[in-house]
Order: sequence, then C-alpha cells, then structure tokens
Amino acid sequence: MLQVPLPHLTTAWKDIIADLKKQNGKDFLPSTYTPEQIRGWTRQRDILAASYASLENSVTEIPFSGGATTSLVLQRQASRGTVVLNTTDKYAEPIVDYFTNVNPVDRRIGVEMVRFYRKYMAWPSHQVRAPFEIVPGANVTSDEGIADYLANGMISGIGHSCCTAALGPKDLGGVLSPELLVHGVSGLSVGDISLIPLIPATHTCATVYAIAEKVCIGYILSITMLIGFFRLQTLSSDVHNHQTKLRTDAGCLYAKHAVNRYYLYSTFTFFFNNFHVMPPCT
Ligand SMILES: Cc1cc2nc3c(=O)[nH]c(=O)nc-3n(C[C@H](O)[C@H](O)[C@H](O)COP(=O)(O)OP(=O)(O)OC[C@H]3O[C@@H](n4cnc5c(N)ncnc54)[C@H](O)[C@@H]3O)c2cc1C
Repeated sequence: MLQVPLPHLTTAWKDIIADLKKQNGKDFLPSTYTPEQIRGWTRQRDILAASYASLENSVTEIPFSGGATTSLVLQRQASRGTVVLNTTDKYAEPIVDYFTNVNPVDRRIGVEMVRFYRKYMAWPSHQVRAPFEIVPGANVTSDEGIADYLANGMISGIGHSCCTAALGPKDLGGVLSPELLVHGVSGLSVGDISLIPLIPATHTCATVYAIAEKVCIGYILSITMLIGFFRLQTLSSDVHNHQTKLRTDAGCLYAKHAVNRYYLYSTFTFFFNNFHVMPPCT
C-alpha cells in the first residue's frame, strides 16, 4: 500500500494549498449547512491546509492486492456531505449525499493522483509486469479529460464514512462535548466512528478500536467511582473525614494510572458535576 503526501504527489502542492486557503465555505458546502457548520468547516480547512503541506500526512492511498487493478483513494477531502432523515417515511433509511468531488480542490488532487500513478507505473522496476492503462486511458492527458473521467467514474468512499456526530463545540457545528455527550440532550452519548471530526488518512477499523477502548476506560472508571461514592454515602457522618480520604485516594489512584489526559478530564468532570467534592491530590 502506498500512502502519498501531497508534496510527493505533485509539484503543484503549494498552489493547491493556496487555493484551499482562499475558499469561502459557503461556495462549496451543501446549502443546508448552518452558519455554525460553515464556521466549523472553515476551521477544518485551515487544519487540512496544514496537513496537506506535511510529509507526515497522506492525501492519497493506493492499495494493492493480488489482482490486476488498483484503486486511487482520495483520503483528505475538502468536500462535505449530508445525512438527513427521510421525513416522508420514518422507517426508511436516512438520506445520504456525500457531495463527492464537489470541492474543486478534491477534483484537482484527483487529477494529480492519476498523473502520479502513471509515473509510478512507468518505473523500470514495474516493467517486468508490462502494466498498461485501461481507464481513463493513456490518450486522456489533459486536466479536463482526467477530471471528466473522475467525475463520472469515481465512487463515494471505501466504507470509511464518518464524522456525522462530530466531537466539537456547538458553535462550530459539533455534536458532542469532550465527555461524548450530545450537546443539548441529557444522558445521550455517542462512541463510534461518527464522532471523528475530520476523516483520518488511514483505515478506520483501528481508529474505532481506539475510540472504543477510550470510551470503555472512561465509563468503567466513572462507574467505579460512582459505585464507590454511593458505598461511601452509606457511612455515618462521624466517618466523614475517612470518606473524604477514600474519595481522594480513588481520584489520585486514577490520576496516576490514567491513560491520557482526555479521560482524566472527562471522568473528573463527571465527578465534579455530580458530587461537587474532590479534594486535591497530595
Ligand atoms: C465494505 C467495507 C470494508 C471496509 N474495510 C475496512 C478495512 O479493510 N480496514 C479498516 O480499517 N476499515 C474498513 N472498513 C471500515 C470499518 O469497518 C468501519 O469504519 C468501522 O467498522 C466503523 O465502526 P463503528 O463501530 O463505528 O460502526 P459499525 O461497525 O458499522 O457498527 C455499528 C453497529 O451498530 C449496529 N446497529 C445499527 N443500528 C442499530 C440499532 N438501531 N440498534 C442496535 N444496533 C444497531 C449495527 O448492526 C452494527 O453492529 C470497511 C467498511 C466497509 C463498509
């Protein structure tokens, strides 16, 4: 599998980044996007621009298998889609529109992907297999010709659909708080691929495993502390000092073994919100 950063894909990488930075979110986003979602995309645009310039971040994946063909995968799209309920039939599947290839930056990177792959296949080491191009066809050489082929021939995604309940502030179109609770709804949290705010340049299974592990650790520790608290509540007031010490010990033990600061934060927030007592660790 090849993972190709933009500066390795094309010498025009600075132009592409400049084009992206110039964009106004309203021009290429779905018309249903709220001002908050447009602001959120604008923040993402700047993050994307920085990642396009990085050699640590791939924009194109080229997976190989034993077969005779391959795919060119655009990994860090500037286009954004929608998923909405079907208001005429509540039992129907939601209506999904990926808005694939709507943003011109995606179209431009798509063209560069095809050009890169042609050069790659022309390497001397590949000639032993005598590769030849079936689509778009070696005779299609102009940017417009390649872009037309992609517009008609590409498919929307490779099963990595994500980001529909993005973690982020509400005023940037985010759906989830850092504790993974849905903004404006009590007692509802989300812990799957939909919480990723910006699609990662990777396959998503391992990413979801990581999310699941963090969610589990956060919840298990929260519940453990909750149970501990209620057990402590049954003690009479003359052991209040002892109770406080136990709670402190539980928190500090967790702090020492916390896997990362994020869950430390979320669990402690939970603790603070609900009990209002958390003496400092010593
Ligand atoms: C064809 C395909 C190939 C892929 N190949 C790869 C790959 O090679 N490598 C890789 O890393 N990733 C791959 N992915 C991506 C990866 O599988 C997904 O990103 C990942 O599984 C998402 O995990 P999830 O838990 O968020 O959602 P899912 O795995 O979709 O889990 C959602 C679960 O919720 C259940 N569910 C839905 N609605 C309800 C309901 N109302 N009540 C109760 N349960 C419900 C579903 O039955 C399902 O079990 C592929 C995806 C597809 C579609």
